[in-house]
Amino acid sequence: MELQLTAAQNQWREEVKDFLDAELPPKWEKSTEWCEDKDFWAFAIAFTKKVSAQGWIGLTWPKEYGGLARPPIDQLILSEELTYRDAPLVNTIGWGLAAGALLRGGTEAQKRKFLPPIQRTEVLWAEGYTEPEAGSDLASLTTRAVRDGDEWVISGQKTFTTWGSHADMLYCAARTDPEAPRHRGITIFGLPIHQPGVSFGPLRSAQIQGAAERLLELSVDYAGRRTQFGQTIGRYQAVQYLCSDIAINSHLTSLMARYAAGLLDQGLPARKAVSEAKAQASLTARLAPERAHAVHAGIAFIVDFDVQLFTRRCRHWELDLGDERYHRERIAAALAA
Ligand SMILES: Cc1cc2nc3c(=O)[nH]c(=O)nc-3n(C[C@H](O)[C@H](O)[C@H](O)COP(=O)(O)OP(=O)(O)OC[C@H]3O[C@@H](n4cnc5c(N)ncnc54)[C@H](O)[C@@H]3O)c2cc1C
Repeated sequence: MELQLTAAQNQWREEVKDFLDAELPPKWEKSTEWCEDKDFWAFAIAFTKKVSAQGWIGLTWPKEYGGLARPPIDQLILSEELTYRDAPLVNTIGWGLAAGALLRGGTEAQKRKFLPPIQRTEVLWAEGYTEPEAGSDLASLTTRAVRDGDEWVISGQKTFTTWGSHADMLYCAARTDPEAPRHRGITIFGLPIHQPGVSFGPLRSAQIQGAAERLLELSVDYAGRRTQFGQTIGRYQAVQYLCSDIAINSHLTSLMARYAAGLLDQGLPARKAVSEAKAQASLTARLAPERAHAVHAGIAFIVDFDVQLFTRRCRHWELDLGDERYHRERIAAALAA
C-alpha cells in the first residue's frame, strides 16, 4: 500500500487550505457543538453552504445525487484540514450519518429526495439515539414506533441531541418490534422535527472543572445508581478503576498536605514538602475531573449538574498559588541545595 500522498492529493490539500484561509477569520476558534450564539450560527450555516457550493459536502457521493465521486482519501484530506482549522461545519449528522445510511440502504426515491438537500445544506439533521436511560447501552431504548395505517406514531424522549433545536430532521432510533431480541427490532426513522407533538427542552452545556473529594463522591454515587447493560456501571472494572484513581490521588494529596502542615506546625523546614504537596494537588486537580467525566460520560456536560461546577473549581485550584511546574522547580532547587 502506498502511504505517501500523490502530487495531486497534496495539491488538493493546498486547495482546501486556501479555501479555509479565505473563508475563516484568522485563528478561528469556536465549536459548533457548544455555541448557541445566533451570529455564530448564521456564520456556520453560511460557511457550510460555501463548502456545499464547492461540491465538498458529498465529495465522495455518486454524481447523480449531487456528489463529485471523488476517492475516500480526498475526503480524508478534506476532513483533516477542516478539523485542523476547527471549521464551523454544520449538519455532520446529515452528510455523515443519514447520507451514509441512505447511500447504502436507501431506495432510489429516498436517495433522490433526501441527498441533494443535504448536499446543499438546506435540510439539517440531528442524531436521536441517546435517551435518559439509554446511553452506551443503546439497545435499552424505550422510544416506540407503532404503525397506524400508512403512518408511524413515534413516542419517547431523546437527550443530548446536538443541534436538535436547529435541525429539520431527526435521525431517530425507535423500537419497532418489542418481541425481537434487544439488539434487533430497532428502526432508524427520518423524523421531521418541526411538527405537532415534538417538543424541546434545552440542556445547557459547558466547559468543565471541579474539586477532587466532591468529584469522588459524585462519581461513586453515580456509578452506584446508573444502570447500563442490566447492571450498575460501578460493577464494571473500568469504572471502578476510574473512581479508584480519584480516591488514590485525593488521599495522597491530603496526606502530603497534612505532612507539610505538620512540619510548619513544628517550625521545621517545610519549603520542599509544601511544594511537593502543591505539585501533587495540581496533578490531582487535573486527574480527578478527567476521571469523573469518564464515569459520568454525557451527563457530566450539563451545567446544572455538579460535576462541571467542581471541575471548574479544580481548574482554578490547579493554577492558584503556583502550578505544578512552578512547584517542581522549587522542589528541584531544594534537591540541588
Ligand atoms: C458532546 C456530546 C454530544 C452528544 N451528541 C449526541 C447526539 O447528537 N445524539 C445522541 O443521540 N447522543 C449524543 N450524545 C450522547 C452520547 O452518545 C452518550 O453520552 C454516550 O452514548 C454515552 O452514554 P451516557 O452519557 O449515557 O453514559 P453511560 O452509558 O451512562 O456510561 C457512563 C460510564 O459507564 C461506562 N460504561 C457503560 N457501560 C459499560 C460497560 N458495559 N463496561 C464498562 N464500562 C461501561 C461508560 O464508559 C462511562 O464511563 C452526545 C454526548 C456528548 C458528550
